[in-house]
Amino acid sequence: MSYLEVGITCPYCQMLTQPTIKHRSTIPLALDGVVREKGDCMLFTVAQCPNCANLLYFAVKGFYKKVRGRRGGETGGLNNQRLIYPSYMQLQLDHRVPPAFARAAKEAYTCLDISPTASALLSVRLLRRVLRTFFTKESSERNREERVTLSDDIDHFLIHYSGARILKRSLEKIREFGSLAALSNTGGLPEDLEVCREEARFIIEFIVNELFSFAFILPRKQQEMEAMLNRAARNYEFVE
Ligand SMILES: [Zn+2]
Repeated sequence: MSYLEVGITCPYCQMLTQPTIKHRSTIPLALDGVVREKGDCMLFTVAQCPNCANLLYFAVKGFYKKVRGRRGGETGGLNNQRLIYPSYMQLQLDHRVPPAFARAAKEAYTCLDISPTASALLSVRLLRRVLRTFFTKESSERNREERVTLSDDIDHFLIHYSGARILKRSLEKIREFGSLAALSNTGGLPEDLEVCREEARFIIEFIVNELFSFAFILPRKQQEMEAMLNRAARNYEFVE
């Protein structure tokens, strides 16, 4: 099945879209230079994201058959169409996200299509770092050292942070993903660890869209708003 049939996450705007095909061309793979009636081919497709209008370039291997009386031919056996340009997600993040965290999120996003498992591992490391840096109550019974696994960090958050219902729901869902919740900083990786693309995507999108908002963007916006109110109040006193 091709990406264009099932839709893709646009690497520019990160929306799930079904790109509009703009142009297709088939190149026969006749290595000896002689193009035959039928053979292997590469099909190249230029498509456009209906959401952000950026162009995407796909390639897929298949076979072709010449059709009498027609300039082109028929293609078949097309499978697993690949996005070849842009070759990775161009993740756009709010400027309020600290650079080290933004860099880690971009890394996890970049390898999402190439290796969902690698992406999930980078995401889990980032997720734990955010939870431990910004959501740790040291007065709690289970302090930082006692929290060994991702599941421990999630427990700590669920117990100590009231509100934030969306975050809690997502964290509970992530905890159900295979053996990810049991991963610890000290233990090695299980040999059979494998994360599917949908799960890996859920984790990085949760971090980027929900957790970053809660940890960095909303508090900074609140500070900016307070600073603005203070300035306005000072100006008002001056006018009085
Ligand atoms: Zn787009």
